[in-house]
Amino acid sequence: MPKRYHITAKPAAPRFIPVGRSGIIDFEEDCLKCTTCVKKRCLYDVYKNRSYDARTMADSIDYQCKNCFSCIQNCPRGVLSKTINPEYLKLGDAYWKPEIISINWFQAETGRIPVSGAGYRGPFSGPGFDSMWTDMSEIVRPTRDGIHGREYISTAIDLGRKKSRLEFDAAGNPVLEVPPLVEVPLPILFNLLPFGNLSRNVRLAMAEAARQIDAMMYLAEQDDEPALEAYKAHLIPVVAANGMDPSAAIFQGVKMVELIYSDQAWHGALKLKAKYPGLVVSIRVPMDAEAKAVTLKLAAAGAEVIHLVADFQGNEFVADRPRFVKDVLRDIHGSLVTASIRDEVTLVVSGGIALPEHLPKALICGADCAAIDLPLLIGLECRVCKRCTHGKSCPVEIDQVEVSHGSQRIVNLMCSWWSQLIEVMGAMGIRDVRRVRGEAGRAMFFEDLERETFGAMFGTRK
Ligand code: SF4
Ligand code: SF4
Repeated sequence: MPKRYHITAKPAAPRFIPVGRSGIIDFEEDCLKCTTCVKKRCLYDVYKNRSYDARTMADSIDYQCKNCFSCIQNCPRGVLSKTINPEYLKLGDAYWKPEIISINWFQAETGRIPVSGAGYRGPFSGPGFDSMWTDMSEIVRPTRDGIHGREYISTAIDLGRKKSRLEFDAAGNPVLEVPPLVEVPLPILFNLLPFGNLSRNVRLAMAEAARQIDAMMYLAEQDDEPALEAYKAHLIPVVAANGMDPSAAIFQGVKMVELIYSDQAWHGALKLKAKYPGLVVSIRVPMDAEAKAVTLKLAAAGAEVIHLVADFQGNEFVADRPRFVKDVLRDIHGSLVTASIRDEVTLVVSGGIALPEHLPKALICGADCAAIDLPLLIGLECRVCKRCTHGKSCPVEIDQVEVSHGSQRIVNLMCSWWSQLIEVMGAMGIRDVRRVRGEAGRAMFFEDLERETFGAMFGTRK
């Protein structure tokens, strides 16, 4: 029996005390000095392990407290109270919200699935991926067997061009040559980072994590260096198609390459395929007004992989009312289905994939695979403050991260994402992630429900 894919997490504590959601205010003047102080009875030893970080003026209680309110409720003089930490509310931006950042921090530290313990208390629906829900109707045995390892749920996919039918030569013999494929055990690639206080150590930490979990990582041409030689099998160089030299050293020893879309991209892909027939060539297409037409043209011409890139908040690159990545993806996937060429090409999507649940949602909308970026940086403790984009210092000195520590945090993050993908697939009753792609019938979309339920009465939402 083939070995089952598994990611092993090991705790990897943050180097800086993370910004916690809520702080505890302690009015010590009224304290009765009870011998059995509620602080000593904290189930999570939050007060016992309390520490301060002078560099960031952070108190570990804010991050470690599980908000059980035991100490607050049981203090006889009520000297303790909780309050939202204003620093927490300032984290990130309108899309990369504090909850998204803190969830990814937790996952990178522990490799576990975050559990609130108090049920979901958020809104029923929201923008972006929050306006779709996956089908959980199969969340019963025997699909739970897959989640607990008694049956195998496969998360492996193949990157490359697939044949959709048998072909025969002029003599009537079957053509046995099949295009090259790169198999990855998770439908996740490590994308180029949109910003960040990046360094050689950050790239090596990502590459080492990719090696450990058998993933693939995109590498900008200018970042190639001898230290990455050992990771070649896990690298996807991203190269401009214009002026590309197929003999360049960056193409030696890699299994897959990505060309940045331009008028020359398809010509460049053919040149690379002529020189390296076993290489999988992807084309990086920005999600702009032309994306659908470009994707259809490339797929019809014979492209193996098309990487659709939205901005880091998941919006398409158009000035007027940009659509969210899931809507663009559904549109492009649907067009490929209509043109009867969807199964032949691999679609990778990136931009705005921020949480584990976004991965199966992106697959349902039509992607074969997602490339993630900021979650990796957040895994390395990034606060999405964007100071680095203005040339200012990084509050968590990301560039100084040790390779072994950084790679373990990324491995942990992927362990958590992988576990959650299996959870969703188990609940949907799907045992092969390749079957999740385009399964829109196994999801509900708020826009569709609203239109079908209220559209006839109230018309279309403006
Ligand atoms: S609220 Fe609960 S977890 Fe937080 S410090 Fe008090 S007892 Fe500990
Ligand atoms: S923490 Fe801020 S400065 Fe550091 S990498 Fe992240 S966004 Fe850039």
